[in-house]
Amino acid sequence: MSTTIVIKDLVKSYPAIAPAPGSPPTTTAVDRVSLTINAGELFFLLGPSGCGKTTLLRMIAGFIEPTGGTIVFQTADGASNDVTFLPAEKRDTGMVFQSYALWPHMTVAQNVAFGLEVRKIPVGERESRVREALAAVRMEQYAQRKPNQLSGGQQQRIALARAIVVKPRVLLLDEPLSNLDAKLRIELRSEIRRVCKTSGITTVYVTHDQKEALSMADRIAIMRSGNIVQLGTPTGLYQTPTERFVAEFLGETNIIEGQVLSAGQHVVVSTPFGQLASENASKCPVEVSATVLVSLRHECVRLAKGPGTNAISATVKDSVYLGEIAQVELAKESQTISLSILNPRGELPAVGSQAWCEIDPRDVILMPKR
Ligand code: ADP
Repeated sequence: MSTTIVIKDLVKSYPAIAPAPGSPPTTTAVDRVSLTINAGELFFLLGPSGCGKTTLLRMIAGFIEPTGGTIVFQTADGASNDVTFLPAEKRDTGMVFQSYALWPHMTVAQNVAFGLEVRKIPVGERESRVREALAAVRMEQYAQRKPNQLSGGQQQRIALARAIVVKPRVLLLDEPLSNLDAKLRIELRSEIRRVCKTSGITTVYVTHDQKEALSMADRIAIMRSGNIVQLGTPTGLYQTPTERFVAEFLGETNIIEGQVLSAGQHVVVSTPFGQLASENASKCPVEVSATVLVSLRHECVRLAKGPGTNAISATVKDSVYLGEIAQVELAKESQTISLSILNPRGELPAVGSQAWCEIDPRDVILMPKR
């Protein structure tokens, strides 16, 4: 039965290392985080280095004791288990680390079987479960190899098989793809997602790589300085960020200031590049004459032949051909906007010329100016 993880007001503080005079004597790695991770969900903790995601994951695993708050594992039948201070080995979680941490002297099959032996699972069942787990990660034919006879990607598949073979309540993945090269990382993203979703195990996955999170997650919590800044689905977060940090962390975007000219059903803002209508202001309370931030993603700004709906004009400052895309930078009144052209053909706009571009009102994202 799948497990829901309910986290309430979770805090972890450490004594500050050599605090500057006047600064607090503690560092708060995780700062009153409340969060429910649904049963069977593939949930991501995403954020820059030092934002507290590993500390949060390790508190769920039981490797770090919280300073405050609670962690509860719930099952659909209503059983509720407060694991806040339960030792790691009693929580029934499986963990996959950045370093594969396989036993070098054991074969692949022995590595995967290890957790079953510890749990005293009878030999017959053990063998069939090892076969099943190796099949799940598509590594059956490597059962008799030693880890040093496998590539990094294959070793990480074995680490995943070893974690799921014991059918844990919760699977925890700490930057599992960071040691792999770019091509393998992309390949393993869909493999890991497939394995997690097929197994139905509630999974928490830590990464600083936004593409990894966007391509794999059911939901993502974006963290900064020990807090969750925004929580949502990949498309929800990418298309409707609530603040600049989230908009910029998830992908290339232009942030410009705008002044609200009309509010209500038809929101229009005035920007240094011209007036823009927005149909993406739901996360930003708008009042006439208020200053807001406007986020325009590079791929949402499209070159146009001339004036049109939601069109703005500016001088071409730079134009670079990169194969699958071209990048164009436009400038006006000392502000710049970058845009990307997918599959560029023919001539790119000449530097110094005047260019028009159009933006769909749904892609004109308004955010509060804080
Ligand atoms: P992330 O995984 O997002 O990179 P961490 O959870 O590792 O971030 O760390 C969050 C913050 O807590 C950082 O400022 C880090 O320096 C601090 N921190 C982590 N572990 C310790 C520790 N054992 N002692 C003191 N500070 C720590």
